[in-house]
Amino acid sequence: MNYRKLGKTGLELSVLGFGCMRLPTLADKSINEKEAVSIIREAIDSGVNYLDTAFPYHDGNSEILVGKALKDGYREKTYIATKCPPWVIKCADDFDKTLDEQLHKLNVDYIDCYLFHALDKNRWNNVILKYNLLEKAEKAMADGKIRHIGFSFHDDLDTFKSIIDGYDKWEFCQIQLNYIGINHQAGIKGLEYAASKGLGVIIMEPLLGGKLANPPANLKKAISPEKTPVEWAFDFLWNRPEVSILLSGMGNRQQVRDNIEYASRAAVGMLSEENLAMLEKAKHIYDTTAIVGCTKCEYCLPCPAGIIIPKVFEIYNMSAVAGVIAAGEKYKSMTTPRADACLTCRKCEAQCPQAIKISDTMKDIVKAFA
Ligand code: SF4
Ligand code: SF4
Repeated sequence: MNYRKLGKTGLELSVLGFGCMRLPTLADKSINEKEAVSIIREAIDSGVNYLDTAFPYHDGNSEILVGKALKDGYREKTYIATKCPPWVIKCADDFDKTLDEQLHKLNVDYIDCYLFHALDKNRWNNVILKYNLLEKAEKAMADGKIRHIGFSFHDDLDTFKSIIDGYDKWEFCQIQLNYIGINHQAGIKGLEYAASKGLGVIIMEPLLGGKLANPPANLKKAISPEKTPVEWAFDFLWNRPEVSILLSGMGNRQQVRDNIEYASRAAVGMLSEENLAMLEKAKHIYDTTAIVGCTKCEYCLPCPAGIIIPKVFEIYNMSAVAGVIAAGEKYKSMTTPRADACLTCRKCEAQCPQAIKISDTMKDIVKAFA
């Protein structure tokens, strides 16, 4: 395993962090606890020392599972990251209540890295600043409940910079980045900006919601078979000195083992100019074929009309590569409600970190597959 320093925290973290939002599940979608604990511990035994969870992951059960996985001496070998959910904070005291609940669920005395979750302009102004939550976080640090403060982010570059510049004690941040989305949200410019201010940068969505692990055929053809699509995607990030670590939401043992092998080869400057040109070409192919930039995070669910939104988008995106007729057949054979069931309530759009205009897109899909 290779390790890198996380900005101002001084922590030496494994370049591969374990994202605990896509843990193995049972048929009823609950976490397969035995398997999840086992693969987390295997990762830690192989050198992974950073676990990333959050209040809403797995319907609130991810933090509890992480607490179980870290029994039997594993807590001492691992840094825990979890996040303050701004959408549940309705007054300043909610910060303490939520943090205490998280400590209880994790069954620990302190959290190593505490992030304000999914900050955007609205949450920054109308929750974090409005309720003085940075002071609250500093008090929690002084009380020994958290050790380091950061934020995860989903908005545009200007907002990213203003959040960084709005507080001089940030130690690290978490942004989504992959070789397709270099100009999306904070993007590469945000990565460079955060690093220039001394912040550690943790990368989420390195595989664009899993899409880069199994890319469509035309994109796969553009990538050298010398490495797997996953390894190319990870290496694009590890290649950069500004990247501290990347998170992978590992859902099975093989993924853990493969990712640990890739992490053992991670190094700054590992990619040649030729490699980078190849990934740029792959990005161009993706940009000219993908229709909706859905990462399948499922934050938009449940939909009151019962639409499995990311599934509908997946099929719609397929039409760019496989053609409207093939995608349309798949669409018409769906057993769950389709785009025409959309009530235009826009409940989903408030939750979508990619700011997709979901209800408008549903109308486009109805037309496309009419
Ligand atoms: S806008 Fe449509 S897709 Fe979104 S939650 Fe409402 S009914 Fe579901
Ligand atoms: S539509 Fe948005 S919130 Fe829903 S799965 Fe896709 S990216 Fe996530």
